[in-house]
Amino acid sequence: MPTTTPFREAVTNCPEVVLAAVGGATLVCGTRPELIKLAPLVRLFGDEGTIVYTGQHYDESLYERIRAHLPPSNRFHELGVGGGRRGDQLGRTISAVDEVLATHPGRVVLVQGDTTSALAGALAANAHGLPLVHVEAGLRSHDRAMPEEHNRVLIDHLADLCCAPTELNRRNLLAENVPAERIAVTGNTVVEALEAALPPAAERAAVLAARRLVRDRYVLATIHRPENVDDPDRLAVILGELARLPLPVVFPLHPRTAKSVDRFGLGRLLEPLDVTEPQAYPDFLALAAETALIVSDSGGIQEEASVLKRPVVVVRRSTERPEIAGTFGVLVPAGPSIGAEAARWLDDVAGHRERLRGLPSPYGDGSASARIVAALGHLSGGPGGEAPGPGRSPG
Ligand code: UDP
Repeated sequence: MPTTTPFREAVTNCPEVVLAAVGGATLVCGTRPELIKLAPLVRLFGDEGTIVYTGQHYDESLYERIRAHLPPSNRFHELGVGGGRRGDQLGRTISAVDEVLATHPGRVVLVQGDTTSALAGALAANAHGLPLVHVEAGLRSHDRAMPEEHNRVLIDHLADLCCAPTELNRRNLLAENVPAERIAVTGNTVVEALEAALPPAAERAAVLAARRLVRDRYVLATIHRPENVDDPDRLAVILGELARLPLPVVFPLHPRTAKSVDRFGLGRLLEPLDVTEPQAYPDFLALAAETALIVSDSGGIQEEASVLKRPVVVVRRSTERPEIAGTFGVLVPAGPSIGAEAARWLDDVAGHRERLRGLPSPYGDGSASARIVAALGHLSGGPGGEAPGPGRSPG
C-alpha cells in the first residue's frame, strides 16, 4: 500500500514552483471516476485550479456522495448538462464548457479518461486555443464498437501533453504516431486517490461489522457497463453466476443496472445478493480492501485491486487495461467462466493474498499527480521540476 520513493518525495515538494509558472488550470470532468482520479490534482492545484463539472453523472449516489470527498475548492462550476443521446449530450457539453472557458480561460485545460465530458472538454479547449493535457492517456481496448475507445483516441490526438499511466500506454500512443515529446509516463493518479481515501484498519473493520461481513469471507461485485446490463439475457446470466458463488456477495447497485433490472423484470435475481446503494468512496475502498475477491466490469476498480492486492475477475469482452491480466486479474466474458474463475481464486484465498502482496501495482507509486504537474512546467515553458520523459516509468 502507501509507498515512498526518493523521486516521489522530490517531485511532491516542487509543484508550487511549477504551478506558479503554469498559472491557472481548468479541470473538466463529469463522472464518478473522473472526480475520484482528479482529486489528487485538485489537491495539488489548490487555488490555481478551477473545476468544471459537466453533470454527465447527476445521480446523487454517483455525484454528491463522491464530491463530498473532493478537496474543497472555491472554483467549482456545475454545468448540469445531464444525460441524453450521445450526440446531443456531447453538443450541449461542448457548448456549456465553451461558455465557462470564455469567462475563466485559465492557462491550460486538463481532462481525464474517456468520457463524453472529457472529449467535450478537449474540443472546447482546442476551440479556445488552450493547451490540453490528457490524464490517463494511451489506453486502448482496440474495440471500435466502444464509444469510450473513440473518445480516447480523439482526445489523445488533440492533446498537447499525454500523461500515460504505463509504458504499454506510451507504446500505444507511439504506434499511432503521437510524437514522443508529447508523452510523459506518469503512473495513474488512482494510486494516490486511493491512498488518501482508504480508511485505517479499525474503520474498515467497522464498515464490515455494520454489514455483518467477515474479512476474506465475502465477494464484492459491481456491474454497470452497457455491454453487460443493456441486454436482458446477459444481465440475467451475470446475476445468476454471482448468486451461485460460495460466499456472500456484496453488490453496490449502479443506477444504470438498477434501471435495467426493473425494465427486464429481473428483481428476483437480486434476492440472493447483498444489494446496497453505490457506496461513498472510502466505504467502498474499505469493502474492497478486505474482500476475498472482486468481480467487476469497472475500469477504476481493476486498477484499485492492484493497489489493494486483491484479485479481480473482470467481466468484459475486451479490456483497455491488460496490465493486470495474469497477475491481479483475469478477463472473462459474461457466462459460466465467471463462476469457474471465481472458484479458482476462492479455493485458496490466503495463498493468493500472500502471493499478490508481493506484486507491485502496474499503475505506479502514488506520485502520478506530482509527475503530471512537473510535466506541465515543460508544457508552459516554465521552470518545472523533473519531467518524466518518454520511457521513464514511475516508481
Ligand atoms: N466506486 C465507489 N463506490 C461504489 C462503486 C465504485 O466509490 O459503490 C468507485 C471505485 O472505487 C472506483 C470508481 O468508483 O474508483 C469506478 O467508477 P465506475 O466503475 O463508475 O467507472 P469506470 O472506472 O468503470 O470508468
